[in-house]
Amino acid sequence: MATFAIIGAGFSGTLLALHLLRRTPTRVRVVLIERQNRFAQGPAYATGNPSHLLNVPAGRMSAFHDRPEDFFEWLARQPDAPADFGPGSFAPRRQFGAYIRQLLHEELKRPGAAGRLELVRGDVAAIEAEPHGPLSLCVGTERRIEADLAVLAIGNFPPEPPTIADHAFFDTPLYRPDPWAGDALGGLDPDAAVLLIGTGLTMVDTVTSLEDAGHRGAIHALSRRGLTPRCHAAAARPPLRPGAAIPDHLTDCVKMLRAEARRAVREGSTWQAALDELRPFGRDLWQNLSVEDRSRFLRHLRPWWDVHRHRLAPEVSRRIDAAGARGQLTVHAGRIDSILAGDDGATVTYRPRGTGEQKTLRVARVVNCAGPACDFDRIPHPLVRRLLSDGMVRPDPHRLGLDVTPSGALKDRRGAISRQLFAVGPVTRGAFWEMTAVPDIRRQCELLAAQLAMLV
Ligand SMILES: Cc1cc2nc3c(=O)[nH]c(=O)nc-3n(C[C@H](O)[C@H](O)[C@H](O)COP(=O)(O)OP(=O)(O)OC[C@H]3O[C@@H](n4cnc5c(N)ncnc54)[C@H](O)[C@@H]3O)c2cc1C
Repeated sequence: MATFAIIGAGFSGTLLALHLLRRTPTRVRVVLIERQNRFAQGPAYATGNPSHLLNVPAGRMSAFHDRPEDFFEWLARQPDAPADFGPGSFAPRRQFGAYIRQLLHEELKRPGAAGRLELVRGDVAAIEAEPHGPLSLCVGTERRIEADLAVLAIGNFPPEPPTIADHAFFDTPLYRPDPWAGDALGGLDPDAAVLLIGTGLTMVDTVTSLEDAGHRGAIHALSRRGLTPRCHAAAARPPLRPGAAIPDHLTDCVKMLRAEARRAVREGSTWQAALDELRPFGRDLWQNLSVEDRSRFLRHLRPWWDVHRHRLAPEVSRRIDAAGARGQLTVHAGRIDSILAGDDGATVTYRPRGTGEQKTLRVARVVNCAGPACDFDRIPHPLVRRLLSDGMVRPDPHRLGLDVTPSGALKDRRGAISRQLFAVGPVTRGAFWEMTAVPDIRRQCELLAAQLAMLV
């Protein structure tokens, strides 16, 4: 019997397990290991708040590339399904979590999979490798699991703190480093002012959570550029005629994208449609750019790309606009100089973008909503630290994740390709750039399962 271990049971790890069970012979056993109590959710889909909506329409959130309506049809079968819900609607994220959990439970009962899938609750702290032998996974302090190969599906990490000279503030209870942790907003005076570091999707989640909790105080959101996510186009659009070829230089790509957006609008469609048309080519586009162009993109264009590419459901966008219009939410563009804790809260000093001046905010809490950390040299995750110090993996050149081959095999410190260690999901962003949303990850899981099936 061969054992394939998957470390992490968020969306990526769970879906990979499902595909592996269908693609590999019955002599392959799949062990899915998760350190949290919850399988098949991860931080994205573990939220209990029904206001936290998916940012991809239900019709595009199927777990299976070849059955695009699967999630939508599952939703329609739920007893509380709203009558007017369509494939273009945006479901609560927790429902997507329930859908993935159900797929996992059904798989556990499926005759062909019974006995071949083991769910293990535990934290993998290290992976030991002997030449020509199986891997040994240290799970917690007591258990070891031997596996012929292992896949890292360890997902997203809490954001990094901003770079300020005095870090003492980060050790105070006024600071919440993890916006997805249950206590991020707990115990907050509803009339107190709050600072959210970051103005992207996590900020949006946090504003809706504050509103739902009846928060009345001022909400400040601050990022270097103060850019906020754009909204999905509300109306259905006509299909676009095929676009121009995608150039291999960044400047030409930007020009092409602008021209395509203008053309889409001229043809009665939307700029959103022009961007979506590029989606299937995202990986090719990234890999076709030179290393210098990728670095330029990350330095100068990434925030613009993020807010246009990862958009809000219209109903969420309306809530954010309304919070701004009534003066509760203020978005600032600037750089934080210092945050100091006092008896009556935190004093945040920042420099508004493009000005030499300094401004001050007084808030009762600072929540870091800056988006997942991805520089593996700085992530304090014990397994990552251990794999790096053992030289079994290395960060990718752009510091977006770990260095992997196009088929997902991890590279060691010297660049040698592992035949036993693989990765899937956001940790592979360096090779693919867009490996965040479900439509990209599900394709990657299918391809990796097919690749691993060839190894037995
Ligand atoms: C808040 C949020 C909202 C999002 N909304 C959307 C959306 O609406 N639509 C969309 O398409 N995409 C969305 N995304 C993108 C999302 O990242 C992916 O869809 C997907 O959830 C990533 O899954 P993953 O399994 O790779 O990572 P994760 O979901 O982070 O799961 C990784 C799992 O690995 C476990 N783990 C980590 N280390 C270990 C270890 N050493 N041992 C054992 N277990 C370990 C963790 O506990 C975790 O459960 C969202 C992301 C976030 C963070």
